[in-house]
Amino acid sequence: MVGLSIAHQLLERQIARSIAIIDKEPELGRHSSGRNSGVLHAGLYYKPGNVKAQVCVEGAHRLRAWVEERNLPINPCGKVIVPPRADLDAQLDVLAQRGRSNGAVVELWDETQLRDAIPEARTASGRALWSPNTAVVKPMTVVQRLQHELLERGVRFIGAQEGWTAHPEIQELQLPNGNVIAYGHLFNCAGLQADRVASLFGVGGEYTLLPFKGLYWQLKPGCPIQPRCNLYPVPDLNVPFLGVHFTPSADLTPLVSIGPTATPAWGRENYRGLEAVQPTMAIANLAILAGQYLANRGGFRRYVHEQAFLALPPLLLKAAQQLIPSVRADHLELSQKVGIRSQLFNRKTQNLEDDFLCLTGYASTHVLNAISPAFTASFALADPILDEKLQELNLG
Ligand SMILES: Cc1cc2nc3c(=O)[nH]c(=O)nc-3n(C[C@H](O)[C@H](O)[C@H](O)COP(=O)(O)OP(=O)(O)OC[C@H]3O[C@@H](n4cnc5c(N)ncnc54)[C@H](O)[C@@H]3O)c2cc1C
Repeated sequence: MVGLSIAHQLLERQIARSIAIIDKEPELGRHSSGRNSGVLHAGLYYKPGNVKAQVCVEGAHRLRAWVEERNLPINPCGKVIVPPRADLDAQLDVLAQRGRSNGAVVELWDETQLRDAIPEARTASGRALWSPNTAVVKPMTVVQRLQHELLERGVRFIGAQEGWTAHPEIQELQLPNGNVIAYGHLFNCAGLQADRVASLFGVGGEYTLLPFKGLYWQLKPGCPIQPRCNLYPVPDLNVPFLGVHFTPSADLTPLVSIGPTATPAWGRENYRGLEAVQPTMAIANLAILAGQYLANRGGFRRYVHEQAFLALPPLLLKAAQQLIPSVRADHLELSQKVGIRSQLFNRKTQNLEDDFLCLTGYASTHVLNAISPAFTASFALADPILDEKLQELNLG
């Protein structure tokens, strides 16, 4: 989605005449952009001043308009955030304040208003935060439609190109089929592999991506509880995961998903079982996470205690019951949907990066840490990336 959005903005702004999208997969959407919750976030969570805060509201607005213009599925259902514990109540004010500074519309609700929206939902403090502009789309439909339109406008798509080599000094890529692609500028938007691709260009050596697996459950079709809008817990604002939440589907199918979890993954593309397991990488990553736990950087222990084990069904159920106490084990079934988040870790500072990060190489730009809400924000995120490049090239 990030790469497509950059291509889209290059065309919209008439910056480039010849664009090729090279992907290691035969088709797009096989990774994060086709496997996420599809929530167009309204911009409540992000610290004012962060790139995320600057682009989320505008990105959501633009992507929503784009989806609506094309009559693609969208559920403009809004979102309510509740504190699962009374001591988290004050976080609602922090979120409300952040949201307003970021240009989002928010409203503090009492228990009656919450019950009007979702009769079964619970707030531990009697208050909740309402975000009317949160919507849900079908991420794969968005990716496919955007790709289709770009192809119609002359963008080339070169798929199934795993294992190309880079020659940055002469601005060329050698594809596995022997073809050579010469480029004026290369944008690395490789999601879960963006740090590895950056390293081929001698960029971002201090960074590594830590994969976290997001499993989803769903309410069975006959379940008497069917929340009509998104229901989220107050998140731990120190870590980049929003906590297990209820999300209604974008189309008329009455399907409500619960998740995603955020468990350290055994491989960057380890979606199921032993598929794409990378034991050496997993052990190295666990060592990094153990270090974060021991040092409790950014309150990391709270993430481990509250979120790291939610892949276990009883703990997932407990997390869901904090939002809707009447949910029972027999209401839930495991969803086929599973995604992996690419969380960037800085080896030098020993910190998990919180914001989007864009690094520059020779004739190349590397988008690292395109974590949530990069899907929502993608159209608006492309602009500062392009602006910076144009300024550097003195093109205004
Ligand atoms: C479980 C989950 C839930 C989420 N929920 C939301 C949400 O509700 N709302 C939201 O806004 N965001 C959400 N996100 C985040 C969002 O999905 C990502 O921020 C976004 O999709 C990132 O897009 P991307 O284009 O950077 O990465 P990707 O979609 O992963 O695309 C990267 C592309 O690069 C290709 N690639 C990789 N390596 C190479 C290589 N060497 N050569 C060529 N091509 C390569 C891949 O095949 C892939 O097509 C969620 C993420 C997850 C995992």
